[in-house]
Amino acid sequence: MTWKLEELAGSEFRCQCGHTHRVPIQKIRMGKDALGHLEEDIPEMHLSGKALIVADETTFGVAGQQVEVALQQARVDSDRVILRPRHNLQPANWVLPDERSLGEVLLKVPEAPGFLVAVGSGTINDVTRFVAHKTGMPFVSVGTAASMDGYASTVAALLTGSFKKTVPAAHPLAIYVDPDILATAPLEMAAAGFGDLLGKSIALADWRLSHIINGEYYCPTIAGIVEQVLATAIKDVAALSSGDPEALLRLTEGLILSGVAILMFGDSRPVSGAEHELAHFWEIQALAHGRLFYHGDKVAIGTLLMTEMYDRVLSIKPETLDWEKIYRDRPPITSYMETLQQDFAGAWEALYSPNWKQTKLEELKRPTGNLLAANWDRIKEEVPQSLLKMDEIRGYLAALGLCQTPQELGIKREWLEASLRSGREMKPHRYTIMDLAAEMGCLDIVSNELLKSVV
Ligand SMILES: [Zn+2]
Ligand SMILES: [Zn+2]
Repeated sequence: MTWKLEELAGSEFRCQCGHTHRVPIQKIRMGKDALGHLEEDIPEMHLSGKALIVADETTFGVAGQQVEVALQQARVDSDRVILRPRHNLQPANWVLPDERSLGEVLLKVPEAPGFLVAVGSGTINDVTRFVAHKTGMPFVSVGTAASMDGYASTVAALLTGSFKKTVPAAHPLAIYVDPDILATAPLEMAAAGFGDLLGKSIALADWRLSHIINGEYYCPTIAGIVEQVLATAIKDVAALSSGDPEALLRLTEGLILSGVAILMFGDSRPVSGAEHELAHFWEIQALAHGRLFYHGDKVAIGTLLMTEMYDRVLSIKPETLDWEKIYRDRPPITSYMETLQQDFAGAWEALYSPNWKQTKLEELKRPTGNLLAANWDRIKEEVPQSLLKMDEIRGYLAALGLCQTPQELGIKREWLEASLRSGREMKPHRYTIMDLAAEMGCLDIVSNELLKSVV
């Protein structure tokens, strides 16, 4: 079946997986007259008082005035805050989700009752959803670019100092997306959005892998939604590369659906695996060196690397491995932690918890050989279902002007080596192909092969 976003909004249903899934976003309006619905939606969502529009110069230019007019028609008073780039990072014209932006929005938050309207993409939504969460003020989101899958998110990625931190935040009450607004954004933003969706091929494989080997909870309905999102994005590559507004709208729909999958599941497991761990790892390193990248550009490269890792690890026959030697060669926890401290370059302290150490000690004792003997046939059959071919991925990246190698994107060789060695600790409780490779004692060897073949 095909999942329609507008129908999923506000829904609640008992699923074949045994859980009840809820989508707490009340309205999702996609299409040319999307903002025209604001007038009828505001009373239905019980929004009242003054609205604060949060935008940057560009997004206010392409959609801010339309939002102001729509609010006037709904007889809502509005104020605005236009965030500006003021930092030493590159590219210098990006607005950041940092303390300054948060402060600027907080200073203008209206007295309750009132609500916030995010007009923009990643940063604008992150800042608004965090302020909404802290002040208890509802917010609605008006999308301006198909660049990332955070529109429906309940976490915000904020920048404090030179560290990116993911913190709890509020989901929007409603999302509005007009294809003509999307078409005004640079194509590189849609390419990044596509890169983010390409990563779902790995995320789904990692989820199925963990379901089989660890018995982790898996929902076929949510997996089906994510599969649909991936398939639609791939079918649209040619149309996206020519900036077709309807394809941009479908891409945005996919990105929002991906966020809806997170809401239904309760965390980002269905849509974020090893490819996102690598992307987040590179982000930390790049920020420390004053560089900013689109999230989706890094996810695309992470997808390329992890596709190759899957190919190589799944071609191993576990029964041919010397498991006694693999168990003996696993590192003592102390030296493992020293490696992490070096690889995370100062960021490890923020990630470490006593809980982590306990889990890691157990992992270092896992009888992986036995677990694989019982499950390998099933893993080989079910896990690769969502995986793409390397040439196929390269073709999509080329069609959309995305970087083909980590170097092209500006990821240094040492970050790359460190990420393959330690990136799986970015989200230590999320089991991925990198964890399996480590447990099989082949992470180093496979990583070296990757560095030769993909880089
Ligand atoms: Zn389910
Ligand atoms: Zn993402």
